[in-house]
Amino acid sequence: MAISDLRQQFPILSRTVKGKPLVYFDNAATSQKPQVVIDALTHYYTHYNANIHRGIHTLAEEATMAYEATRHTAQEFINAASEEEIIFTRGTTEGINLVANTWGRQNIMPGDEIIISGMEHHSNIVPWQILCEEKAAVLKVIPVNDNGELLMDAYKALLSNKTKLVSVVHVSNSLGTVNPIKEVIEAAHQVNAKVLIDGAQSAVHLDIDVQEMDCDFFAFSGHKVYGPTGVGVLYGKKDLLQTMPVFQGGGEMIKEVTFQKTTYNDLPYKYEAGTPNIADTIALKAALDFIKETGKSNIRAHEEELLTYATAQLQAIPGLTIIGNAKEKVSLVSFIIKNIHPQDVGVLLDNQGIAVRTGHHCTQPLMARFGIPGTIRASFALYNQKEEVDALITGLHKTIKMLS
Ligand code: PMP
Repeated sequence: MAISDLRQQFPILSRTVKGKPLVYFDNAATSQKPQVVIDALTHYYTHYNANIHRGIHTLAEEATMAYEATRHTAQEFINAASEEEIIFTRGTTEGINLVANTWGRQNIMPGDEIIISGMEHHSNIVPWQILCEEKAAVLKVIPVNDNGELLMDAYKALLSNKTKLVSVVHVSNSLGTVNPIKEVIEAAHQVNAKVLIDGAQSAVHLDIDVQEMDCDFFAFSGHKVYGPTGVGVLYGKKDLLQTMPVFQGGGEMIKEVTFQKTTYNDLPYKYEAGTPNIADTIALKAALDFIKETGKSNIRAHEEELLTYATAQLQAIPGLTIIGNAKEKVSLVSFIIKNIHPQDVGVLLDNQGIAVRTGHHCTQPLMARFGIPGTIRASFALYNQKEEVDALITGLHKTIKMLS
């Protein structure tokens, strides 16, 4: 099926906003959902809603099988070595917090160093700040150049035997930069540091092979890969997950409880306390299957074409500056317009049915690095079309005229 035909599988895209056809360019915040994902949710609630794992009745067995089938699909999606390495979370943020609260609390000692980068999302900054404060450890930051790329020499100079963890974003949600993650990981491993990759933006666009990458942890969110909100995946290498302390206590993560002592469940259940987000986890499988069937290389080719097309047209607008011109970039373009506040642009585009995101994109330190309060960000998905980019450009011309 041609990629343009897939658009019809996303029912929301046929709605209007303010009387205009919806142009949805906020995919980096969350992607829209294909009918198969919506159907998987309603099918579960209509036919086999039950709590999982401990039930012996038919509904419980069906729900458990569907839930665990997602784990298998997620394992394949990122090429993890085993299903035991796939922990279901609420999303990328929870995945990172899980590592900070378990591996971090166990392994970070006073004076140790954690390295992040200057283009991190707040979700990959704040958990490490909290940990560093608690442990009297030190947070170091890889600087970013004017194109929005990591300064790799500066990174390597930061590494030492004090470095215990490097936690870096794979694809920047504000700039679209694809970071040289293999090089980051290799260098960190040379000083015996562990590496967490924030895959929130990369999982939907790039082929992910955690074994080839050799990262120690990898986190992504369901809602950015055409799946539901409230579910995500944390990958961890098995030997690490086995020795890390537990995260939350409660049902499912236990083997046996007495008032004297509790023993913990095997992987991956050790990290999944309480009734999980069953419906959304089940529906995540439909999303991952949808991506697999479409083919990431097809998706990428389509999005690259859109990015190139949009970039050329945006560059031609007087007073417009693109923020983030990395050599390796995917699927989104961030920009500012001289003497116009991004927020005002966002509101006026919305009046024309065009959804973009404006502001700091949860990367305030990165915005400070560029000396700006925020950007206007258009981020693309497989269902976007060149005509929509044209609508954005027309909308921007109108907006600039109204505001200047
Ligand atoms: N990291 C990056 C790079 C992101 O883009 C996002 C979401 N905007 C997150 C982390 C956090 O993801 P979530 O809100 O789904 O936990």
